[in-house]
Order: sequence, then structure tokens, then C-alpha cells
Amino acid sequence: MTAIRLDGVSKVFEGEHLAVDDLSLDIADGEFLVLLGPSGCGKTTLLRMIAGLERVTAGDVWFGRTNGTQLAPRDRGVAMVFQTGALYPNRTVQENIMFPLQIAGQDDAAASSTAAGLADVLSIGSVLDRMPRTLSGGQRQRVAIGRALVRRPDVFLLDEPLSNLDATMRTELRQEIGAMTRDLNVTTIYVTHDQVEALTLADRIAVMRDGRIEDVGTPTQVYNDPATAFVAGFLGTPRINLMAATVHVTAHHRVALDFGTQSIALSPTDRRSLILRHHDGARVIAGARSSAFSLVTDDDPANQLTGTLRAFEFHGQQSIAFVQCGIEIVDPDTVGRIVPAHAQQSAGDGSTGRRTGSDGAAGRRTG
Ligand code: ATP
Repeated sequence: MTAIRLDGVSKVFEGEHLAVDDLSLDIADGEFLVLLGPSGCGKTTLLRMIAGLERVTAGDVWFGRTNGTQLAPRDRGVAMVFQTGALYPNRTVQENIMFPLQIAGQDDAAASSTAAGLADVLSIGSVLDRMPRTLSGGQRQRVAIGRALVRRPDVFLLDEPLSNLDATMRTELRQEIGAMTRDLNVTTIYVTHDQVEALTLADRIAVMRDGRIEDVGTPTQVYNDPATAFVAGFLGTPRINLMAATVHVTAHHRVALDFGTQSIALSPTDRRSLILRHHDGARVIAGARSSAFSLVTDDDPANQLTGTLRAFEFHGQQSIAFVQCGIEIVDPDTVGRIVPAHAQQSAGDGSTGRRTGSDGAAGRRTG
């Protein structure tokens, strides 16, 4: 069942700034959806519109079968945690967590026992009597999460909840958020610009750019089969290689990607080969992650790119070689919007885009 439906939602701030642009998305009951994108792409604004903290300029926000666009925040069944969870400074951890239950009319004994139980799940059972100022950043975030979840909201919204924590704490709390939201089966929308958080937590990731969703899918879908060059470039470390190429189809329908001074033949069974063999001469962007390459030193040029080793970095688990091959590299941030493959019917005249490439990601520029 759909828990939340965003139907053509837009937000225009004063000064005509379009922060969210006609965005539509369904979020399923119990789903963990991550909104991922660079700074300023509209993630927080979208989250705040779902929470009712920001007015929607156009479009509708549905909660189940209820059009909640005009509902007050408290009537939406949502709870939200921010970058730095604001706690009541003069209340203990336990009092902070139990407060929403007291407001709802629950008696103190029941509220306090529920809060203590939740605190245990959040690994802050030992600091129940402490005041917020005496807590670490990670503990404060845990209290904020406990306070948000104590009333069992229908929808749990988190806005970069780990961004102020150190790396170890971030990993730990990330795992706990994942486990907890799964156990509670609460519909969760999580805003981040951190791809590791997105890939590890999400059932689905919606990648945003300039107020719109550029791709949405499971972590493996958006990583292995990104809809656009921008998405390909945003996910993955080191960054994917996006290479300008021309499709070359031989008389036997074999497809090669021609990079100017060198080329690579695609396997005839590669699904991109099956598409590209109808597009001899098309200019494409071929995407290949570094993991698709291996370094060889023999002289056989078949299916190899030749280049000069410029740098070699040891990263512990892996090493990264930087090889200059004389190929035109495309900056994904500067590539215009690309029409995802599934949104088109044909691509014959160079004005539409599609996926291609030698390792999961690429597309053609529009226009
Ligand atoms: P970040 O990751 O940096 O938090 P974001 O993706 O969450 O970024 P938003 O905070 O939603 O982005 O902002 C989207 C755009 O809307 C930005 O250009 C921002 O400057 C603008 N914006 C946000 N809030 C307001 C506001 N209250 N008034 C005017 N413009 C705003």
C-alpha cells in the first residue's frame, strides 16, 4: 500500500526560486526511502513539505487515502529528526523521550516505562537520568530519535541525522537506525548527501538534482544501472569514468565504442550492444567504473585501453591507478538532463538519450 504520494509537488520560495519542481513519487508502506543529492537540490525542502513545516506551492501530498496537503504538522502522523536533534535542555533523557506520550495524555508510569524500553533499544539506557548538555553528539541524536519514535508515528522523517557525528559514531548509529526502522516497520524518508548512508540504508534511493528526481530505484539499480550520467557520477568512489565516444557498428553488427585514438569492442550479447547496433555513428557517453578495469602490461591491444600511469594511490583495501588514455572525459555535473532509457521509444537523430556504455552507466546528451 502507498503510505505517501507526492503528486506534482513544487515549492517556489520568495524571489521566484524554484526549490522543488513538479515532483511526483509514491512511497510504500514500511519502505525506507532515501532522498540523495548534492547540496541545494531541494531534499530538505521536500522533507519539510511532507512534514507540513513548509507550505506546498503547487501539487498535493497524500497520506494513504487522505489528501494531507493542508493538514497541520501534528495531524499528519509524522515525526522528524533534524541534523542536531533539539532536546529540552532542562529535562533528563528519560523525560525528553517520554514527553510526547505525556502530551498525548499517557500516565507517567506507562510513559516512563515505554521511554526506558526505547532507550535500551537505542543504547542509551545507561544515561536515562542525565541532562542533554552532558551527552555526546551521538547520544543526543539517539535521544532525538527516541523522542520522535516514542509515539509510533506512521512516517519517520530524518534530515541528515548523522552529519554532525564522527565517523565511528556515524557507522554505529546508521546501523541502529536501519535495524530499528526495520523492526518497527515504520515508513521512513531519510535525507542525505552521503552515498554510503543511502546505499546501505535504503530500500529505494531517489537521486535529486535541481528540485527534481533524476533517478529512483533500489541501491543496486541506481548504482549499476543509473538513469543518467549525473546519477552515475554522483554514486561511487572513485567517481565513474564517463568517456565521450562514437558508436561504430561493423558489417557483422559488432559494436565498438570509438574514443578517438582507441576503441573497445562490446560483447555481442551485452544488452547495450543490442541497442547500439542500430545507432552507428551516434555520439554517446560511455560509463565505466574503475572496478571494470584491470591493469595489464602485455602488448595485445584487443579490448584494451592504452595509457600512461599518472598516479597510483594506496587506499588500504584497494589501490587506485590514474591512467591518462587521451580520451575525452565528461564531467557529469555539466551534462545536461538526459532522457532515461525507459522514458523513450527510439533514438535515431541524436536528440534523445539512452543508456549505453561498457559498465553499467552512460547516456546521450539531450539536444
Ligand atoms: P543541503 O543538503 O545543503 O541541506 P538541500 O538539498 O536540502 O541542501 P534545500 O535546503 O531544500 O536543499 O534548498 C533547496 C534550495 O532552496 C536551495 O537553493 C536553497 O537556497 C533554497 N531555499 C531553501 N530554503 C529557503 C528559504 N526559506 N527561502 C529561500 N530559499 C530557500
